[in-house]
Amino acid sequence: MADYKYVIVGAGLSGLTIAERIANELNEKVLIIEKRDHIGGNVYDFYKDGILIQKYGPHIYHTNYKKVHDYLSKFTEWTDYVHKVLSYVDDKLVPMPICIDTLNKLYDLDLDENSMKEWIEEHKEDIDEIKSSEDVVLKNAGRDIYNKLFKNYTEKQWGTSAANLSPAVISRIPFRFNHDDRYFSDTYQGMPKEGFTKMCENMAKSDNIHIGLNSDYKDYIGKINYEKLVYTGPIDYFYDYKYGELLYRCLNFVYEVLDEDSYQEAGVVNYPNDPYFTRITEFKKLTQQKVGGKTAIMREYPGFNGEKCYPYPTQEYLDKFKLYESEMEKEENVIFAGRLAKYKYYNMDLVVKDALEIFENEIK
Ligand code: FAD
Ligand code: UDP
Repeated sequence: MADYKYVIVGAGLSGLTIAERIANELNEKVLIIEKRDHIGGNVYDFYKDGILIQKYGPHIYHTNYKKVHDYLSKFTEWTDYVHKVLSYVDDKLVPMPICIDTLNKLYDLDLDENSMKEWIEEHKEDIDEIKSSEDVVLKNAGRDIYNKLFKNYTEKQWGTSAANLSPAVISRIPFRFNHDDRYFSDTYQGMPKEGFTKMCENMAKSDNIHIGLNSDYKDYIGKINYEKLVYTGPIDYFYDYKYGELLYRCLNFVYEVLDEDSYQEAGVVNYPNDPYFTRITEFKKLTQQKVGGKTAIMREYPGFNGEKCYPYPTQEYLDKFKLYESEMEKEENVIFAGRLAKYKYYNMDLVVKDALEIFENEIK
């Protein structure tokens, strides 16, 4: 007799979504084993001096998937926050992603939609086949934009030149021939009104969901009877690194609370040309919290030590992941989900979409 029919490793959005569905739709008991001392995975936030801080960097909700939005809206209401990012270059703050106003501010121009197209035609490089993230920017906007806004940010963020990175990395950033300076153009965007941790707590509310925090699943898994394991941790660890370690780009998140009402003009300001950190987030601007006399900011320092944040998108590691993938396909009692197990650069909406599909197709 199984202690639990389902055991889930990881209380991030992947694990919580699957647990919530099992508990509330199948009315089955489910155990979540979580290594950290909190639920929520990377979207975890907490209060410090009355200010909501996102421990693992700025997380802004955005999606085009109605199914995901309807699902998450059962656990939270949303604010109307629209994410905007400025980039600090040549002593100016310019909108990011590139739009008409970015060029106008950066080069003291007065372009409109048509003249921006002409400007881009004059500056972009002719590249037949886009092979790297560098090519994406050179083909879309040319070398000077690349050098000012992308080159150093990307080298710092990834520890290698954009010329060595797959086009997918920088293709996350759109290029726009209009005044739209939103970071995301998705239909649904905002922040959970009471924060991500509260939303996650609501997802985990069922009596059917039992959570063991501060626990590495390998210390417990031989001692529990179960039928199916859902694994959302790093895939190389699951297989005891039998094909070697998969590389992750890591971030160190350093926050401070300041005795000021406001620190910067936008929720996030990118510093492409600072030698050490990539960006500064001011949380109150994201959460729209009204706290007088105090604000909290966070700098992000990339490296190969720290929180495992981004699968490393070079061919060597994608090939290594394929070896693990061939093992994953053979598993009968294990389901893999989420950013770490799939070794993919997923936004939270895709993680939830995937988890809902896993529940429908492989569990229900
Ligand atoms: P995780 O949140 O990583 O959860 C996995 C859990 O498994 C963790 O809690 C971990 O502790 C646990 N675990 C791992 N190993 C073990 C083990 N051995 N035993 C027990 N437990 C274990 N997405 C957006 O949509 N918008 C954003 O603005 C955004 N910003 C981001 C900013 C940064 C810096 C990063 C890194 C990501 C960002 N994302 C954003 C992506 C988002 O964080 C992820 O898509 C989402 O949180 C992934 O959820 P997950 O459950 O797959 O993984
Ligand atoms: N990027 C850049 N300059 C910027 C912002 C982003 O060069 O000002 C590049 C960088 O390589 C980054 C990628 O674009 O990794 C994707 O940016 P995004 O903001 O989507 O990254 P996230 O912070 O969500 O991982």
